[in-house]
Amino acid sequence: MRYEIPYNEIKTSISGKEFKKIAIQLPEGLKRYGKEIIQKLEKEVEKELILSGYPCYGACDTKDKELEKLGIDKIIHLGHFKIPFKQSIETEYFPIKSNLKIKNTLEKTLEFIDKNEIGLITTPQHIHKIDKIKEFFKNKGIEAKTSKGNKRITSEGLVLGCNFSAAKIKQKETLYIGSGEFHPLGVALSNKSKVIAANPETNQIKEIGYKNFIKKRYSIIGKIKDLNDFGILISTKKGQIRYNLAKKIRKIIEKANKTGDLIAIDDVLPNELINFGYEAYVNTSCPRLSIDDYNKFEMPIITPNEAKIAFGEKDYQKYEMDEF
Ligand code: SF4
Repeated sequence: MRYEIPYNEIKTSISGKEFKKIAIQLPEGLKRYGKEIIQKLEKEVEKELILSGYPCYGACDTKDKELEKLGIDKIIHLGHFKIPFKQSIETEYFPIKSNLKIKNTLEKTLEFIDKNEIGLITTPQHIHKIDKIKEFFKNKGIEAKTSKGNKRITSEGLVLGCNFSAAKIKQKETLYIGSGEFHPLGVALSNKSKVIAANPETNQIKEIGYKNFIKKRYSIIGKIKDLNDFGILISTKKGQIRYNLAKKIRKIIEKANKTGDLIAIDDVLPNELINFGYEAYVNTSCPRLSIDDYNKFEMPIITPNEAKIAFGEKDYQKYEMDEF
């Protein structure tokens, strides 16, 4: 396994306490380790353990209300840092550490870095290495700086697909350590500056630009302007609810003499939307769905900021990623 499961911390958290039924929750990418984790814990703690089979895409998505129906009194949520919101069941978050060696990847980033001060951001799997990464760059004469971000961010230097606040630092270059291009793209767009993405899994380094991305999204916004009826998606996942924003978007749509209906939804999946028959959707749930999953949907699905641009409430030159 290329991850370190914090068994001892989990055992301490659940052993000898009043909790009787404990749910183990894993994000999609770690579910394949669920069997091994629960079977190991079952041998070591005398508690009723249940794997949560619900889809889980982030710390925003704990399914406490659903698990409560089974009498679960504690959730062990693996793979993410906490996002502060009210839960009906005590929930403890255990980020999973990647044990990949990243020195070679860091060496390779030096060819891409021009400045002697950079911003540094990463994902939950690599955050425990952040001091070592800083030290590596210090030894090369580069100061790597991190920021605490806003209150949705509970570990310095952490970026989420819905929150780039820890990347809003003065440095003109930012280094992202992690996989995928969504986070570095969001940071590049948010800071309008150079972002270098270093993927320790593939050992690939890439500079991430945002201009082509914006062009594609402008073309979608252009088509949206001519459509007339919209579904406005409001997530029922507790850490994604933006009801007021959805109502605001409806007002904007109505002001443009079009119709906008509010839709409560849990998982925003193509099949869940297909039968409604709206011409397009404005998504106030996880921002990644409107961007990363755009091509999976039959109808256009846009972010609230894109809806504001389409209906004249925001200057099109001020394109921004959707963050909260
Ligand atoms: S809203 Fe989306 S990007 Fe943000 S934490 Fe949840 S799943 Fe991740």
